[in-house]
Amino acid sequence: MRPRDSVPSFAVLEGLFGGAAGGAALLAAERSPTFNVFADVLSAGFRILGGTLSEETIVRLDVIPVAFALYVGGGALAGAAAGALLGVARRAGWRPGAMVRAALLGAALVALETVVLGALWRHRELPWAIGAIVVAASGLATVAAAGLAGAATRAGLTARTVRMLAGFLPAAVALACAGTMIVARTGPPRPDGPVVSSPVREDTGLKVAVLGIDGLDWKIVDGAIAEGRLPNLAALIQRGTRGTLRSIRPPRSPVVWTSVVTGELPSEHGITDFVVRRDGDRIPVTGNLRRVPALWNLSTTCRFTTAFTNWYVTWPAEPVAGAMISDRVDFDDLDRRVFPEELTAAVDSARAGVDAMPEREIAAFTDAGGDFASWRADRWGQVRRALTVLDDVIRHDLVTLETARVTLRSGQPDLTAVYFRGNDNTQHLFWKYRFAEQRSGLLARVLWNDLDPEDVEALSPVIDRYYDFVDELVGRVTGMLEPDTALLLLSDHGFLTNNERGRWYNANRVLEAAGMAALAPDAGGAAVPDRSRAYDPLPPTVSPRRILRAGGLAEDAAAALAEAGRILDAARTEDGAPLFLPTEHAADENGPFLVAEFAPDLEAGAAIVGGETLDTREFLVPEGHSGNHRMDGFLLAAGPPFREGARGENLRAVDVAPTILYLLGAPVAADVEGVIALSLLDPQWAREHPVRYVRTWGRRDVDHDAMPTAADERIRQELEALGYIQ
Ligand SMILES: [Zn+2]
Repeated sequence: MRPRDSVPSFAVLEGLFGGAAGGAALLAAERSPTFNVFADVLSAGFRILGGTLSEETIVRLDVIPVAFALYVGGGALAGAAAGALLGVARRAGWRPGAMVRAALLGAALVALETVVLGALWRHRELPWAIGAIVVAASGLATVAAAGLAGAATRAGLTARTVRMLAGFLPAAVALACAGTMIVARTGPPRPDGPVVSSPVREDTGLKVAVLGIDGLDWKIVDGAIAEGRLPNLAALIQRGTRGTLRSIRPPRSPVVWTSVVTGELPSEHGITDFVVRRDGDRIPVTGNLRRVPALWNLSTTCRFTTAFTNWYVTWPAEPVAGAMISDRVDFDDLDRRVFPEELTAAVDSARAGVDAMPEREIAAFTDAGGDFASWRADRWGQVRRALTVLDDVIRHDLVTLETARVTLRSGQPDLTAVYFRGNDNTQHLFWKYRFAEQRSGLLARVLWNDLDPEDVEALSPVIDRYYDFVDELVGRVTGMLEPDTALLLLSDHGFLTNNERGRWYNANRVLEAAGMAALAPDAGGAAVPDRSRAYDPLPPTVSPRRILRAGGLAEDAAAALAEAGRILDAARTEDGAPLFLPTEHAADENGPFLVAEFAPDLEAGAAIVGGETLDTREFLVPEGHSGNHRMDGFLLAAGPPFREGARGENLRAVDVAPTILYLLGAPVAADVEGVIALSLLDPQWAREHPVRYVRTWGRRDVDHDAMPTAADERIRQELEALGYIQ
């Protein structure tokens, strides 16, 4: 029996261990690719901190040891506090059993989590998440508390020891948490080196190449290699150093890839989102908004040659010592797509060549079987949109490969960089099919209640086959490079399951059924204005309120919209409920328009529009993203200066640019956030190549306002189709 006066102290210890166990479980969940819900807890925490701490501090805090301190240490302290309260209550005469105590402790932890979650959660299925946390936390607390009580009794702990531990352990945990935070705030150590006045590099004889693969995730790569797939990546892993590249919250691709090539944080480099807002308009970001030099600008300053292909935010192409194929090379009506301009003809002929390539066939990425074209024609809503995106990104990645080949025709420059986008887009859209097939069909139906078994069967292999395709691309790029190139393979973030649910409204499908609009083939819900009388100019979005305009076939715009209004007002579900709220007519400087808002709470079933019967799934498109970004990206460094078959320390996105400059023998700016990642390198190589700094690379002397172009509408539509903007 425990002495009576040790009861409060013992409860503190129980709470401490229970809380630590609960925190560890939550941390494991936050880092697992299965549930985005937990990642949201940490993101929410950082969003709150964002109001009080600087961006530098946040990025330095956003590392695993700090997450460990927050989850495990914080859980332990919260548990100890709850235990102390429980102990006092027990001393006052309350005698709950071990299970009740553990359940109470679990409930206290859940309450804490719920405060954070509840405050910031949107579009989520909250009850499921809370349920999962309740089960995890109380289960672990029960086990921990019961085990501890048994162990203490067996060890015959005296009241004095228990009291001492109860006082000492929480204090030690608190100190460790605080220490971790302080160390993290100072950032990673900067290697020593002199500050030099000349920016010109001292040639190391190395050629460096960077392959950016958006959203490449270690868990999927490792799983595929274990199955004997991805031969090119497997070979690179064997002869290289692997690690993770920690992203920047929130992990948005243009932001992170710009940090990769500048070594700076978004507030410093100025690229903070996919679009910039000007007078109510959203203009896709352009390279002139970048306020600091990127690696390609430093090619002229430090005197190395370079070729960048399709890197994010590189239009308009900038003058470099070498070549630059901008990320808008596919927009024929833009100028400055390529630098130098003389490359344009070769680049355009490489683009044209892609259209003849057999790899472009998307049927091979699916298990649709039979006649793929007719199977595809029967698909509606999200599946149709996802297949269109798949078509686009395969072509786009092949264009990137072939235009990169053009830049290497006259020999490999000192720094080569190529960026592939498709892997990210396919994971956003096809994640749920893979999850249903490989993880749990039951859980998949809970998370996404609209899964069609036929779609699951056909589309579950898409992501893995895209990884195979990426491996092929990696093989082809490395095949173009000299064998002893120092190769860095990176992704800006990994991927995890996203349980966000919502739906998009496709008004054009309804108007098509009513004979008013013509849908563009495989355009995910866009209409052809010239072949429509009334249509929705926007592709499907989450907004049920649609603004309809008269199309080219309308002889009288107002009359066509009036007819559309009558048809939509009469449209009914199979139960006889109206499909739309009463429509309204109005006009602006672009002419008359019709406001048609889908009725709330529409259920799956049949609908009758203008005498036609159609399935509501044809116009209520399930949400776009079943996969989303997780903070841990991919990092692989292979080639002579890197360690072989090793695991490196985890890098931050900002650490890449200084590391590349160091590899090229150029000095590194002392005032950038990123630091050289010496841990990746063979120590002998590092000893032979001393680190040098310049005070600063300064700021770019360019205009910093958005550049609207004729291509913006198409780019906005692409971003909308991917759910990046709404
Ligand atoms: Zn993405």
